[in-house]
Amino acid sequence: MSSPKLRLDVVTIFPEYLDPLRHALLGKAIEQGILAVGVHDLRDWAAGNHKSVDAPPLGGGPGMVMKPEVWGPALDDIAQGRAGAELDSAEAHRNDRLRHDDVAQVAPRPYEAQDEDRDKPLLLVPTPAGTPFTQRDAQAWSREEHIVFACGRYEGIDQRVFEDAEKKYRVREVSIGDYVLIGGEVAVLVIAEAVTRLIPGVLGNTESHEEDSFSDGLLEGPSYTKPRVWRGLEAPAVLTSGDHKKVEAWRREQSLKRTRAVRPDLLERAALSDDDRFMLDAREVETRVDVGDKRVVAKQVRRALKKAGYRADRIERDGATLTVRGRTALALDEATRVVANAVGAYEGGDTLGNFARLESPE
Ligand code: SAM
Repeated sequence: MSSPKLRLDVVTIFPEYLDPLRHALLGKAIEQGILAVGVHDLRDWAAGNHKSVDAPPLGGGPGMVMKPEVWGPALDDIAQGRAGAELDSAEAHRNDRLRHDDVAQVAPRPYEAQDEDRDKPLLLVPTPAGTPFTQRDAQAWSREEHIVFACGRYEGIDQRVFEDAEKKYRVREVSIGDYVLIGGEVAVLVIAEAVTRLIPGVLGNTESHEEDSFSDGLLEGPSYTKPRVWRGLEAPAVLTSGDHKKVEAWRREQSLKRTRAVRPDLLERAALSDDDRFMLDAREVETRVDVGDKRVVAKQVRRALKKAGYRADRIERDGATLTVRGRTALALDEATRVVANAVGAYEGGDTLGNFARLESPE
């Protein structure tokens, strides 16, 4: 079997905590030879009968700090490739199903590696005081060959361990969120899973992670499956319309609206097209302008309005008054101006927003 694409080494005082790495898709990746995992008991490097790994903090205070004399040699040995307890998959996996990417002949599409010197292995140190771990990190680290995790417990690990480790590793202190866990093991499982699923071959369908939340800087919208009606609740009709373009537009709109509601910070940083802005900000409007006796060709007006960001559903004329109903994200006076420009005549007019609601108040 060829060498694995990624080797993970985890140093911990609770090796059994890393058992979930044997299961499901990660277990399968180990079985397929894509991933290799070594789990190391930090106490193997501890001296004395008690194999103590911690000591009171310098300067006083509560809790204990993990000792540099134990961590230093452990990280030295692992950087040099000292083999640890290897995990191999404990779970039997179904291998009888054809992979989507094999059937559809999808070529592997690995993510870009981070632009840095990758001669040394990457040492990831989970800590609430680290920089936030993101999907972008997961994408970049899915191109690594060797990642080592140092699981802290108690108040954490003596900081000099990481200063010293810079000689042998690229060191990153990372947090998985703004809360405090008891130890780094769960954070390792989180990071290992997020990184490994992006290695080509781990998921059967590459598109499934390319369309996930964060991949385009936005959250994914809601998902539905059969039956179409469940407990009286209907799935959105567009999803069973068979119109792929409409489904795609609906999904984009849901994704944009959910991101705005739940994570407006992401929306601020996302690259949005004019269509996206329309989906987010457009509301129903009705515009009336006085066109006198000017000839108006509805098709031309509709086209000009679309260009200006006003999508007209209905254009009606009653004598000198032209009424346009549609959707736009433009300010109301701007919408009036745009309609007047589109008909090439402006003798005064007005635009009402959300006309449907104005007409039928609750
Ligand atoms: N005294 C530390 C502080 O306030 O920053 C907290 C130590 S915490 C109780 C023990 C260990 O849990 C840490 O060394 C780290 O390995 C892990 N940990 C806790 N919260 C974490 C988080 N949000 N992200 C990553 N690791 C975390």
